[in-house]
Amino acid sequence: MTEEKDMQPAAEPRGLNFVEQIVADDLREGKNGGRLNTRFPPEPNGYLHIGHAKAICMDFGVAERFGGTCNLRFDDTNPVKEDVEYVDAIRDDIHWLGFDWGNREYYASDYFPQLFDLACRMIREGKAYVDDQSSEEIARQKGTPTEPGQESPFRSRTPEENLDLFMRMNAGEFDEGSRVLRAKIDMASPNMHFRDPIMYRIIKTPHHRTGDKWKVYPMYDFAHGQSDYFEGVTHSICTLEFVVHRPLYEYFVKELADESYCPRQIEFNRLNLTYTVMSKRKLLQLVKEGLVDGWDDPRMPTISGMRRRGYTPRSIRNFIDKIGYTKYEALNSVSLLEHAVRDDLNAIATRGMAVINPVKLIITNYPEDKEEMLSMDNNPEQPDSGTHSMPFSRELYIEREDFMENPPKKFFRLAPDQEVRLKGGYIIKCTGVKKAGDGTIEEIYCTYDPDTRSGLPGSMRKVKGTLHWVSARHAVDATVKLYDRLFNVENPAAETERDFRELLNPDSLITVEGVKIEPFLAENARPGEHFQFQRIGYFTPDRSSSSGRLVFNRTIALKDSWEKEQKK
Ligand code: ATP
Ligand code: MG
Repeated sequence: MTEEKDMQPAAEPRGLNFVEQIVADDLREGKNGGRLNTRFPPEPNGYLHIGHAKAICMDFGVAERFGGTCNLRFDDTNPVKEDVEYVDAIRDDIHWLGFDWGNREYYASDYFPQLFDLACRMIREGKAYVDDQSSEEIARQKGTPTEPGQESPFRSRTPEENLDLFMRMNAGEFDEGSRVLRAKIDMASPNMHFRDPIMYRIIKTPHHRTGDKWKVYPMYDFAHGQSDYFEGVTHSICTLEFVVHRPLYEYFVKELADESYCPRQIEFNRLNLTYTVMSKRKLLQLVKEGLVDGWDDPRMPTISGMRRRGYTPRSIRNFIDKIGYTKYEALNSVSLLEHAVRDDLNAIATRGMAVINPVKLIITNYPEDKEEMLSMDNNPEQPDSGTHSMPFSRELYIEREDFMENPPKKFFRLAPDQEVRLKGGYIIKCTGVKKAGDGTIEEIYCTYDPDTRSGLPGSMRKVKGTLHWVSARHAVDATVKLYDRLFNVENPAAETERDFRELLNPDSLITVEGVKIEPFLAENARPGEHFQFQRIGYFTPDRSSSSGRLVFNRTIALKDSWEKEQKK
């Protein structure tokens, strides 16, 4: 029943994707001495989301497939935004997805001394200079893709002066924003990233690992390739927005690498999902402003949110496998992910009965003090998953929607004089109702056919409808959280006219109290378990759930009712 037991690599055998093809070719040609080493480089400035899962599956997956290794490298070069809380969460999420980096956990901050030395060397060789201009001024001089930029008035400083200033920048003598170290490349390059890119900036916020040792911090472009090199990474796989950075990656790496070993950057398309956002900045805003219940809110596209919601690692990995890796940006339908979730939960979820919107049903010809234990399959998809027993008695709860006093044709549920089967139990026939003053139905009266229970001669008798139910006397109360899309529009990131928070779906969470569940569900309601509430959907106990107050998250409805709603 636990997911650990069911966790297996997602991939069925399939052909090589284009990244794997490149790796296979490099290995065949004996590049880097035939070594394969990838890395997953999260910045610890937020929780991982499903987009990161795509990168993780690639970085770890390709290493697994070709017998290489994958490093976990925290790209912690900006102390202002980073925190150890994120480091821990990132580790947990990668493990949960089913990947492991062994003892290869690294931090870009571990390379600050080497990076600093390299910067000093480049200054001495006349390849870098300190610029006293503000970042606004520098941006103004950058030019456009069709017009060359302007050279900084500080570009011709001597190496001695540059070195002295850079040391003093790092000693804390200058204010943040007052000076930067820039590479001296080419202000007229057609590639904007070559126009004397910034290598270091002054930051005085203490770093979560190095404290106040450093006052200058390397920029992404100056840190990433070199960190790859220091770690022995051979294939640095990232997303398409880095294509334009690749020449700069190669430029800086050349300061260190030679023919015998040189890391290489390869880019694939990002994962974008409908009805959500992937920007960590926006996700952080939702968390900070209390618009969701933390990073692991089950409506969030975060890995921790999906885990709390009841998605399985295998369903996420199957989904990522299905959408694949290309060179073209795309918007992936969340329905495809949900399909993968249903597929996996259908195979592994334990079946039980719960009534979300209960109405009392009384079987008038069933003795008042009698009770029977009926045998229920735990999971018909898994023959060896066994059975559990469920109490049956004179008073039950059924779903209010499963009864209609004046039903339309083809209503195969319960109605006056109509017969249905109680799932796993008897056939009943409705004989009447009791109504409140306002017309709402308070009780439904039925008779049962004692011959129709499983194992008895009448068990084969066919009726059109089957209802789920729980015994009123034995039922346990629970709270259920029903989730819907977090946003009302398909691609919130594309709506530039409106603030993304205005696009939130106000009905994305509906909390239902007083749900009636069978005792077996209550007894097994531990977080991490997956249940199918028969005829309703897949549910998982929330981390806030306790024996005093059972809380279930709906992972997903049984059928895709939402898509149908949209088509109406
Ligand atoms: P930012 O850099 O703006 O904070 P990020 O989403 O790029 O956000 P990182 O922590 O730098 O966050 O990402 C780590 C890795 O995950 C990178 O290699 C990045 O390319 C990859 N990644 C991030 N978002 C996606 C996505 N939507 N699809 C696929 N890979 C992604
Ligand atoms: Mg990034």
